[in-house]
Amino acid sequence: MNYTTQQIAEITGSKLIGKKDLLVKTIEFDSRNIFSSSNTAFLAINTSKNSGEKYIQSAVEKGVNIIISEHQFPQNQDITWIIVENSIQFIQKLAKFHLHQFSLKTIGITGSNGKTIVKEWLYQSIFDEFITVKSPKSFNSQIGLPISILEINKTHELGIFEVGISRPGEMKILESIFSPEIGVLTHIGAAHSSNFETEEQLIKEKLILFKDSKTIIFNGDNELIYNLINDIYSSKNLISYGFKNHNNLHLKNDWQGNSEELVLEYFNEEIKIPISQRDEATLSNAMCVIAVLKEFKIDNAKIIEKINALKAVEMRLESVNGLRNNLVINDSYNLDMDSLKIAFQFIHQYNKPKKTLIITDFVEGKDSEKLYHAVAELTNQQDFSKIFLIGDEISNFEILFNSQTYTFSNTKELIESTQLNQIEDELILLKGARKFEIDRLKTFLELQKHDTVLEVNLNAIIHNINIHKSLLKPETKMMAMVKAYSYGLGGYEIAEFLQHHHIDYLGVAYADEGIDLRKNGITTPIMVMNPEQHSYNSIIDYNLEPEIYSFRVLQLFNEQLLHKGIQRKYPIHIKLETGMHRLGFKGDELDDLIQKLNKMNVKVESIFSHLSSADDPVGKEYTLDQIKIFTVNSEKLIKGLQYHPIRHILNSSGIVSYADFQFDMVRIGIGMVGISSDPKIKKQLRNAVSFKTVISQISEVENGDSVGYNRKFLVQNRTKIATIPVGYADGIPRMIGNEVGKVGIHQKLFPIIGNICMDMMMINIENEPVNEGEEVIIFNDKPSLEEFSIYCNTIPYEVLTSISRRVKRIYIKD
Ligand SMILES: *Cc1c(COP(=O)(O)O)cnc(C)c1O
Repeated sequence: MNYTTQQIAEITGSKLIGKKDLLVKTIEFDSRNIFSSSNTAFLAINTSKNSGEKYIQSAVEKGVNIIISEHQFPQNQDITWIIVENSIQFIQKLAKFHLHQFSLKTIGITGSNGKTIVKEWLYQSIFDEFITVKSPKSFNSQIGLPISILEINKTHELGIFEVGISRPGEMKILESIFSPEIGVLTHIGAAHSSNFETEEQLIKEKLILFKDSKTIIFNGDNELIYNLINDIYSSKNLISYGFKNHNNLHLKNDWQGNSEELVLEYFNEEIKIPISQRDEATLSNAMCVIAVLKEFKIDNAKIIEKINALKAVEMRLESVNGLRNNLVINDSYNLDMDSLKIAFQFIHQYNKPKKTLIITDFVEGKDSEKLYHAVAELTNQQDFSKIFLIGDEISNFEILFNSQTYTFSNTKELIESTQLNQIEDELILLKGARKFEIDRLKTFLELQKHDTVLEVNLNAIIHNINIHKSLLKPETKMMAMVKAYSYGLGGYEIAEFLQHHHIDYLGVAYADEGIDLRKNGITTPIMVMNPEQHSYNSIIDYNLEPEIYSFRVLQLFNEQLLHKGIQRKYPIHIKLETGMHRLGFKGDELDDLIQKLNKMNVKVESIFSHLSSADDPVGKEYTLDQIKIFTVNSEKLIKGLQYHPIRHILNSSGIVSYADFQFDMVRIGIGMVGISSDPKIKKQLRNAVSFKTVISQISEVENGDSVGYNRKFLVQNRTKIATIPVGYADGIPRMIGNEVGKVGIHQKLFPIIGNICMDMMMINIENEPVNEGEEVIIFNDKPSLEEFSIYCNTIPYEVLTSISRRVKRIYIKD
């Protein structure tokens, strides 16, 4: 979005106190998530349970100077207030207005189960056909939906939004904001139904969303739903899918049998799809996606390809490897008969001979006698060896369960009982109502995390970006360089986090890296610095923006645009050569370049160059020369183009040392990680990466013993050594063995001894009181990444990008 404070006040009929012309691009309602204060307004949301007004102070401390709330509070700083009557209605009004500014196609998904999966799958299947915006993970509520809608911009061709309700009356409000052209109704079950009198009332409430839809795609297996939709919406284009034959899209063969493929019938046409997962919920969601793709006239071959490529995104049922060779299936989100059935079906896929169930009280039940009889009956068909009942209600019915059964009042009691320690080599299903927090059992049962990890602290990354931003003008844009697997820190995870925090641009080296990001739901503009010739086709398909650095590349890319018949002016980035002598157009090529560009169907989004020595004070004169050349040549280009692309030249150290030349955008890279050549800035940065492992074994070695390959370490004074499970295959250079490099234990440094092996190395720990299994720091604070780089005789960039992919990356937010 992009509105001034005055426009926002006018659109929503609110009162403005303060500046009229401040631009708002982002509205945050969780002060913890505020990343950049520029163009950001904080909305204090009041609900019956909580008041966001408590957090205004913390938003202001983060530099936000626009506050939207129901009341005005005294503040020291100069704040512009938008005073609203009702905070929730405010965001809804604004979203409604915003949506009406665009003419994109819309899909609205509702239902009780499967909404998120269907949305994510649809997105994965369709984003390469249309430029698509979707709601983030579970932003589907009274507040989440409007916030998601505000993400729409003029480039979007399709919007996929999830709409969830929990009470009567809510859908009417949401429908008034968002009325989808295509309505999708996934499975409706009894979940969240305790606020509704009857199933019919619940269904009718959900159906309100489709009041003005042209097409409704729905699961038609439930007779009540089928009949209600056909009654209420008989004049609309109705497409049902499901297992039963009366549906327009249904399964023809026996999906539970051994067949290698699913045979589907869509009206009178047959579609065959190889089968990978056989639980009812997955198949039903896949059918839903197919029905929507058919509606978009996507051909069958493509549909099959897309369905095959789907990843099970965050299935509600999560499986993790447990201690003692157990497999833990966690479904502690909600508990009702439908989700219990789905969970039971789901665990059939695993062939663990023994199974344990941990299940809690159903919190929604009205007639508990009847309910628990049904639960016991269903459960008894599953052949669990042990059942743990948590909660006083379900425990009352202990006698109904056939297996060996134990009862507990709460989760804590079960953990303390140590009963769980007896379970070995079994499948353990955790099925609980949320309030019992049986998630804690998952943590308790889970296999200890990987020994060797690269831990990335996302909050530190944001902090570091903010430190760099504080050196810039608020309106200066920022591109985050996420090339080379985000400098080794991870692929889409980092990009997703940055996107969530509204980074303006992402930069990658190769098209493949950009495609991978797009496939994982990254919609932020992405510049590709090395657009290889064979990749132009996918660059266009995936809406990536190439760096054009020579006439050859320009020519070839333009041919591809023509070949594909691209109508819109395609965004490209022009690289100027100013002294790095790597890639780029030189000054004497500009006249020719301008002529060519003006004839082509392209739009120069940005003009940029790269500094060779921004981190080197000795190179100051050279850097200033580069900047001068850039200024002159980019001005010439702009004059010739007769429009103003974004200009940028500063990398991380450029931001720190040459902020006067920030132009319209900067490109941050290593600075995000917490590295800076400027000691003053370095002090303010936080360390975002920690490479660590644990001790596998400790041994005592005697005089004359030798350690490792080729006996490079000969013991002269008996000592203790520790073996740790990282080696050169993990990215530790072999050359730092033999006491060149050190690692940290208890904040002290210990030398690596002997030759480094492929997967292990040994360290001399002398008399340090340390145990096997204890943590060892390869780099973090001691030694730091910089110190470790010195051991390796290189720079942090190379250390990070050399850590091999087999080292598990984990992301933390503190
Ligand atoms: C990698 C890269 C950057 C980021 O550099 P840092 O030194 O990590 O900040 C900026 N611009 C270009 C063109 C790059 O390739």
